[in-house]
Amino acid sequence: MTDNATINADGFFGEYGGQYVPEQLIPILNELADTYNKFKDDEEFKREFEYYLAKYSGRPTPLYLCSNLTNNLGGAKIYLKREDLNHLGAHKVNNTLGQILLAKRMGKKKIVAETGAGQHGVATAATAALMGMECTIYMGAVDVERQKLNVFRMQMMGAKVISAESGQRTLKEAVDEALGAWIQDADDTFYLLGSAVGPHPYPTMVRDFQSVIGKEAREQCLEDEGRLPDYCIACVGGGSNAIGLFSEFVKDENVKLVGVEPAGRSLEPGGHAATLCLGEPGIMHGFNSYMLKDEKGEPAPVYSISAGLDYPSVGPEHSHLKDLGRAEYVHASDKEAVDAFFTLSQKEGIIPALESSHALAYAMKLAPTLPKDNIIIVNLSGRGDKDVAEIENLISKGDFCMP
Ligand SMILES: *Cc1c(COP(=O)(O)O)cnc(C)c1O
Repeated sequence: MTDNATINADGFFGEYGGQYVPEQLIPILNELADTYNKFKDDEEFKREFEYYLAKYSGRPTPLYLCSNLTNNLGGAKIYLKREDLNHLGAHKVNNTLGQILLAKRMGKKKIVAETGAGQHGVATAATAALMGMECTIYMGAVDVERQKLNVFRMQMMGAKVISAESGQRTLKEAVDEALGAWIQDADDTFYLLGSAVGPHPYPTMVRDFQSVIGKEAREQCLEDEGRLPDYCIACVGGGSNAIGLFSEFVKDENVKLVGVEPAGRSLEPGGHAATLCLGEPGIMHGFNSYMLKDEKGEPAPVYSISAGLDYPSVGPEHSHLKDLGRAEYVHASDKEAVDAFFTLSQKEGIIPALESSHALAYAMKLAPTLPKDNIIIVNLSGRGDKDVAEIENLISKGDFCMP
């Protein structure tokens, strides 16, 4: 990556976003942006996307009122947007379906993607299998070792998993190698990015594909309650599930938007990934946004109990919403997330992803302070089945207790 920025003015949210990438990538990104602009309002493209969202992933997902949890907390009504009920158990498939359909329109034959914990790799492998495309997933060698089951899932669906062996052997190296493969063979290859991050046009494109969450939630809330919610709350890693929910409510000034970041085990450097709460503006992975820096200004080491949230930057639109004061960003610790994980499991019989548990933890703190006629929508970005073994392990080590 070079700091020698070539900037496409369309790719900015205030001062955030842009295309801070090696020169060879600029024309490739601009071709992608042009094609996306052409297809995003195309009736045939929209129909095809909606078809797969409905028939492949099972949308619309319900907006579920947690009566037990609400009565127990004694304040605002808590609704869950059930993204956990999507195919593969999370919101990620909304985005991989959208991008793969675009890749198909562009005549691409091969998909490359990076993955950290493996969730995005699995969603990409599934949709590539669906479209009959060759799929290569780059994953840091350390993550390949830690996430064996997800590696196997990707392979079962026909993807090739390449272990990135350079440097720290984690997500950053996987991104570098995937970008390298893209530049080598850009005519045939589509880079399928996993969150609302990266250079323009990815943050816009991923937001648009995820905005189905907000569109449905808005309609469902109007139908069930006859009015809009008072709060929309979502966890923030790269920020895609959050921006997908928020985007449809940004214009409604009475709807408060809250993003919840992982406070991990401590707010000391290296103990968390609360980028918007504790970071400062800076450039990494090709875009300008808030980021967590070490003393040299490089991306800082980050940590969270939930592998889907430990990223030292964040989608640029969130940085802009923060500076505007339109959205508020708070944090929840590992312990608060695990408490919320058990509470939802025991009160409602729904086991949430540890990522989503951060949003729930904040909602559970907020609800009792609000009047009973207030409405909170929490984006339940994923189901917790993938986290059960990790929780069991932490309980057996004595780090957490089953309540
Ligand atoms: C990947 C993931 C996240 C974090 O990604 P965002 O882009 O911040 O939404 C959150 N929840 C679940 C269940 C995930 O799999």
